[in-house]
Amino acid sequence: MNRSDRLTLVAGGAGFIGSHLCRMLLEAGEQVVCLDNLQTSRSSNLAMLTKYENFEFVQADITAPLPSTIVSRTRQFARIYNLACAASPPRYQADPEHTMLTSVVGTDQLLRLAEAADARFLLTSTSEVYGDPEAHPQREEYRGNVSCTGPRACYDEGKRAAETLTFDFARSGRADVRVARIFNTYGPNMDPCDGRVVSNVICQALSGEAVTIYGDGSQTRSFCYVTDTAEALRRLMEVEQIELEPVNIGNPRELTVRELAELVIEMLGRPVELRNDPLPEDDPRRRRPNIDRAKALLGWEPTTRLEDGLRATMDWFAHELGEDVAVTATFDTIDRHRRYRAPAHRRPLREANVVGQVATG
Ligand code: UDP
Repeated sequence: MNRSDRLTLVAGGAGFIGSHLCRMLLEAGEQVVCLDNLQTSRSSNLAMLTKYENFEFVQADITAPLPSTIVSRTRQFARIYNLACAASPPRYQADPEHTMLTSVVGTDQLLRLAEAADARFLLTSTSEVYGDPEAHPQREEYRGNVSCTGPRACYDEGKRAAETLTFDFARSGRADVRVARIFNTYGPNMDPCDGRVVSNVICQALSGEAVTIYGDGSQTRSFCYVTDTAEALRRLMEVEQIELEPVNIGNPRELTVRELAELVIEMLGRPVELRNDPLPEDDPRRRRPNIDRAKALLGWEPTTRLEDGLRATMDWFAHELGEDVAVTATFDTIDRHRRYRAPAHRRPLREANVVGQVATG
């Protein structure tokens, strides 16, 4: 079978970054199968994709056995991208066990699929593997400063374990792999209720609410526009020669959270109050990628200026929230507390009434 006739699987393809990646691949003519549990996706993201003839959606959770519609076509997959995981702190902490299993069990299942399909595999890892970094900016060689017991551990350690699995598959010749460490990314298709700083600040400012700054706002992040991130992922998948090493993907322009909030407010041109809320536990103090490896390997660097990206993102949120949002709506009315319910195969055993069947001690 010709490689170009084969399928591309994008796990997590209905999510924020995944939906942009899917669109980019569809525009390039790839046959894309999106596998997503819709835990943190938005229906509008899918609507944007279903208009393409070369797009197919399969709803499934990668912590469960892969569905037969995927397994039965194993040999057809040429490329497997794994973007499946809740990624904003409030969302990944809502069901930490599921977050950890998504990275570990889910990545293992997709790696086995890649092995059986002889497909190339790309894991999206995260700057969270550096934890609260003592090295700055962060190069890929830095091993990180991560708590394995704190509230962020389900995501940080899950992704670290996923990287381990991915490189072990490659080391033993079972799969051809790539690992991207994605730094903070923003843009259209973010969920307004995700609880991230960019979505919160923009939605709050548009709604005329106080903008929440956690701690004193002196912590730093570096924000990459989503189409720049998606382009880097596509290039990383396609590059022919790669060592067993992860690649940082992000924008090196670093600013404090307070500076970001002030920039958004200035661009909006309306008076908005800033409110200091408590700093979450284990919140990293600073973060900025060194992207020398991505530049050399992929010929890539971000091209979207923060001001341009924020403008596009603000326009998109304004449209999403309704044009009269600044006058009538408050952010609190916008499904902010949407409840997360674990997938059926992972609900507590007592809910399934089988506690007595489980051996203890
Ligand atoms: N943050 C904030 N106000 C908010 C949401 C987040 O000050 O309404 C801070 C958060 O404490 C962190 C930074 O902004 O220091 C980035 O948070 P985000 O959740 O976007 O991503 P993280 O990089 O922490 O995963």
